[in-house]
Amino acid sequence: MENTKKLRTWLDDFKLSHPLVIAGPCSAETEEQVLKIAHELKDTDATVLRAGIWKPRTRPGNFEGVGALGLKWLQKAKKETGLLTSTEVANKDHVKLALEHDIDVLWIGARTTVSPFIVQEIADALNGTDKIVLVKNPVNPDLALWLGAIERLYSANIKKLGVIHRGFSTYEKTRYRNNPNWQIPIELQNRFPDLPLICDPSHIAGRRDIIFDICQTALDLNFDGLMVETHYDPDNAWSDAKQQITPDTLIQMMVDLKIRKETDTEADYSNALNTLRTQIDVVDHQLIEMLGKRMKISDQIGSLKKNKNVAILQTKRWNEILGKMILEGEENNLSEEFVLRIFKAIHQESINHQKKIINS
Ligand code: PEP
Ligand code: MN
Repeated sequence: MENTKKLRTWLDDFKLSHPLVIAGPCSAETEEQVLKIAHELKDTDATVLRAGIWKPRTRPGNFEGVGALGLKWLQKAKKETGLLTSTEVANKDHVKLALEHDIDVLWIGARTTVSPFIVQEIADALNGTDKIVLVKNPVNPDLALWLGAIERLYSANIKKLGVIHRGFSTYEKTRYRNNPNWQIPIELQNRFPDLPLICDPSHIAGRRDIIFDICQTALDLNFDGLMVETHYDPDNAWSDAKQQITPDTLIQMMVDLKIRKETDTEADYSNALNTLRTQIDVVDHQLIEMLGKRMKISDQIGSLKKNKNVAILQTKRWNEILGKMILEGEENNLSEEFVLRIFKAIHQESINHQKKIINS
């Protein structure tokens, strides 16, 4: 993937910096809060102010946003600071109001991207505007839904389109609020190389302390921008308090992040290499996680065998696995010799695990 891959149409039109930084509170709370944050962000790398006005909450009863009133605060913030403005739209009425208030960037939230009906309604309402529209990934790890939403907007003549990766929800608790599943945005980038790709580390992390690392991974994967939830008093934010950072922390983060700006051929080469290496790191991480999962299942089989007093080595079953994997290996361009070596090693580790269980 080369650095020259992007036409960067609207990024260039707006002379938006690399990486594009969108920052601001999860939710607009009061006029003072929006203006204070906007003024603090003026001295950072942020060029676009974000604030949710209509907040989709997972459970009712939480703060659901200030509504259309907040659009006036965003307009005022733009007038006072020059920052572009952005907010989430979740139906055609939101679109109408956002357009009436001349909001510059409209994004479609993760809970909306899952619904082709609503995405179509929003696309129809947006038809013909030249606003920037950003599509967050759907809550569930489904690339097709994400692509579908992008196609609906392209078909509605939205020219300034981009996507936001905010991670995917999982039933199991992980260190992330929303699992990054980096291979999904990587695949999306392969399919639509000209579509600006922005990372939202805040909703991936759900906590402040890993936001930096997520941003660094995104930049290493050639993302074009970051959307970071920012508040002057994060702990007392009305929504998503744990994941917001202060404008000062944002300034420091942008200093510490390794950002690849150069565009000469030497830099193109090392950028491409770096991106591919980060992709390898993502896959290696998945391999180790999958192997760990396999051993856990193997441990459970060990317990069953222990209870029934059955031998660990089951040759018939093992030969079946090998035969199947050699065939699947061929389909994936892996030599028989390699597949055999890998599976012998996995099998040995499984036997060691089960021996431990049986002797415990
Ligand atoms: C948000 O950006 O505040 C938001 C609600 O995001 P998401 O749609 O990613 O949950
Ligand atoms: Mn939020």
